Amino acid sequence: MPAPVALAVLAHPDDAEFLCVGTLIRLAREHGYETHIASMTAGDCGSAEHTPDQISRIRREEARAAAETIGAAYHCVEALDLRVYVTDDLVDRVVRLLATVRPQVVFTHSPDDYHMDHEMTSRVVRAATFAAPIPNFLHARWGDLRPLDHIPHLYYCDPVEGKDLFGHPIRPAFWVDISRQIDEKERALACHASQRNWLIKHHGMDDYLRAMRDWSAKQGQLAGVPFAEGFRQHLGHSYPQDNLVGKLLNGIPGR
Ligand SMILES: [Zn+2]
Repeated sequence: MPAPVALAVLAHPDDAEFLCVGTLIRLAREHGYETHIASMTAGDCGSAEHTPDQISRIRREEARAAAETIGAAYHCVEALDLRVYVTDDLVDRVVRLLATVRPQVVFTHSPDDYHMDHEMTSRVVRAATFAAPIPNFLHARWGDLRPLDHIPHLYYCDPVEGKDLFGHPIRPAFWVDISRQIDEKERALACHASQRNWLIKHHGMDDYLRAMRDWSAKQGQLAGVPFAEGFRQHLGHSYPQDNLVGKLLNGIPGR
């Protein structure tokens, strides 16, 4: 039996290290999952000093190194920053990724989030998870790819700062305790050195690593553990209804 597979598809090269890397580590260590991290873009706008090509090259390497620290493979969908939309082309690219990696579990952004790229990624991934098991969708495009056996379990990570664009709180349906993984999560995030500099300039955020730790601690406090990551599961018709990740990792129900 091949190992089960978990795939995170997020907008930018460092999003996974903020939102779900602790959970990926636990799935790999405790249940033998093969893990993959994909970013929609290579982060071409994330610099005030480098050209888009230069910073994309730097950030692909940072993302690959970050994924490697947790034993995950890295993929880039090669969309452009601030130009992630629900298009045929991007849905096709993510379906191809799904049919190649063949995940049972997929993580993406919250449908409501602070950044349009995050919201659009969420919708592209939703569309792609629905399409990837449909034979005619794949065969019409690529005869070489086998459709997925079924729609994967789809989970939405916390939106940044846990709120929608009106400032309303979005509470997770459940939390995963990542207290033992927090140092590894920080080491993975630290690989994104170019972003620490950029966020100081553009967002006035002068402590990149501390922001991630504070957020994980805030979720932990709500969950009753030192550090946690929060998720909501896509439970629309035809998606798996059982909370596989919650069951595997003793998820703490939201309250
Ligand atoms: Zn992002």
